Amino acid sequence: MTVTQLSSWVRIYAELINEHTEELTQLDSAIGDADHGTNMQRGTAAVLAAIDANPADDAAALLKTAGMALVSKVGGASGPLYGTFFIRAAASAGAVTELSSHDFAKLLHAGLEGVVARGKPEPGDKTMFDALAPAVEAVDDALDDGASLSDALAAAVTAANAGRDATIPMLARKGRASYLGERSVGHQDPGATSAALLITAAARAFG
Ligand code: ADP
Ligand code: MG
Repeated sequence: MTVTQLSSWVRIYAELINEHTEELTQLDSAIGDADHGTNMQRGTAAVLAAIDANPADDAAALLKTAGMALVSKVGGASGPLYGTFFIRAAASAGAVTELSSHDFAKLLHAGLEGVVARGKPEPGDKTMFDALAPAVEAVDDALDDGASLSDALAAAVTAANAGRDATIPMLARKGRASYLGERSVGHQDPGATSAALLITAAARAFG
């Protein structure tokens, strides 16, 4: 995988966020403060502006530019969380122009660990972690079984979407939704929804 493909991952993510802005905001209006769609839209627009202004020669530079834009341009919890995902992914990828499937799996792990370091989500807390973690695991399992990256990412999309859907009956234990207690039950988590889009974008970029 090349730096151009990595940047199309980010670009496709921005497109998907644009297509789903209203849905993300609606989900966040049920259990949060109705800003997840606009937060993510502002963030991904800033990412595109930053990578166009500073064209990256290597994977680390591209992912770091994306992460820094998210951290600095998104006020909500999701900006620093996704920003940390990309900044940790950048450090894992390194200043290379080609990545193997294994490198990409490693980069996803590093990003997920960044989310955990930043937000301390645990499985079942009803957060983006609940979509991201099963996706990262699905990539590992598929690659271990000898699957291609494209097949591994298809499995990851299925796992992320299932993880997103599984947040519906969960009681929120992190972020604003946790203030609702029992009233958070029965609603899909907005961050798990945007996280599933991040994985869909990867499947489209590298599939
Ligand atoms: P805010 O909650 O500040 O308004 P957003 O609405 O943009 O920020 O994002 C909310 C999403 O962020 C939630 O749906 C959840 O998935 C995610 N989130 C919030 N807190 C945490 C946390 N501590 N760890 C992981 N994810 C979190
Ligand atoms: Mg919000």
